[in-house]
Amino acid sequence: MKNIIIFGAPGSGKGTYSEAIMEKYGMGHISTGDVLRAEIKQGTQLGKIAQGYIDQGQLIPDELMVNILAKVYDEMPAGKGVIFDGFPRTIPQAEALKKMLAERGHEMGMMIELVVTEDILLMRLLRRAIEQGRADDNEETIRKRFNVYHTQTAPLAEWFEKEGIRHIVSWEEHPSKEEMIARVFQVIEEENA
Ligand code: AMP
Repeated sequence: MKNIIIFGAPGSGKGTYSEAIMEKYGMGHISTGDVLRAEIKQGTQLGKIAQGYIDQGQLIPDELMVNILAKVYDEMPAGKGVIFDGFPRTIPQAEALKKMLAERGHEMGMMIELVVTEDILLMRLLRRAIEQGRADDNEETIRKRFNVYHTQTAPLAEWFEKEGIRHIVSWEEHPSKEEMIARVFQVIEEENA
């Protein structure tokens, strides 16, 4: 399977779709948010640094993120393809990812962009705050994360467009979760045919 970069705003469902893809195709999965939350839980040096940024809804500096990503990527089972969930989030991260993969003789594969209206995003994040108790899912931090997404991450969509690997899956007409998953699978299968 080709590598897959799952791209979208906070609350767009990156984690949910990554899990579904991972289960169906047996691919590796790297969620940089999960990696950072695990480090925080274990009280590591990296976790201590990351916590300050996460609590503020800010991004962890690129250099640090790129080093973490390369290390986690090298631990993935070989030859199955990897889902990148929450990485890259900036253009320097995307360039570093492309380079890191090229150095290993691999490619970025495909990018799937999940497009969701902002009112649905907000509703989902507030619901997740109650269900999962994520500290950065409060209204003030959510607003900051949206802002970071619009200024630092959204411009990356064009970068992927130029790379010729951008695929958009849109929620605008409010399909069900099952329909969305089916569409995501279809895009993946067309690309791997
Ligand atoms: P997520 O679970 O993907 O929403 O990530 C939660 C938080 O972790 C983000 O708001 C950032 O503070 C941090 N984070 C996760 N991935 C990255 C990344 N690729 N670059 C910088 N910060 C990140």
